[in-house]
Amino acid sequence: MVVCVCPECGIETLQLRLVNVVDVLSKVLIRCIHCGYVFKFTNSPKVSMPSRTGRSKEVYDVNLLLVYGMRSKGKAMSAAKEFSAVMNMPRPPKFNKYEAILNVASEKMCQERMDTSKEEAVAQNSGDRDIVAAFDGSWQKRGHTGCFNEN
Ligand SMILES: [Zn+2]
Repeated sequence: MVVCVCPECGIETLQLRLVNVVDVLSKVLIRCIHCGYVFKFTNSPKVSMPSRTGRSKEVYDVNLLLVYGMRSKGKAMSAAKEFSAVMNMPRPPKFNKYEAILNVASEKMCQERMDTSKEEAVAQNSGDRDIVAAFDGSWQKRGHTGCFNEN
């Protein structure tokens, strides 16, 4: 048994209470019933993510990472529900909201990488911006490139 002593009054009168659950995020409150000391915490920090409006959006990291992890493995909401049930966790977040956030972040990262690559290509071309790029889509297919069909 763990006994928690209040940091203010030194008496073993702390209560631990789950005050809110936001998807898989938990907000916990520790309160001393003797002196009224209160300490609140969550099991995940908030992270700032870009949005389509240009203003950043704050979301709880644990919810975003659950959706990101599931989507990275090719799984969706039903798999997250099953996983949460097996793990005895709260219900998973609605995927649409977090997928939209992840899409904006991915697009932003892709644009930044393309801009960086463009500037590297210009630098390698002695500052001349007249550069030819060819795209045939064959890199998207597995197997022999002769098997690639444009249609
Ligand atoms: Zn106390």
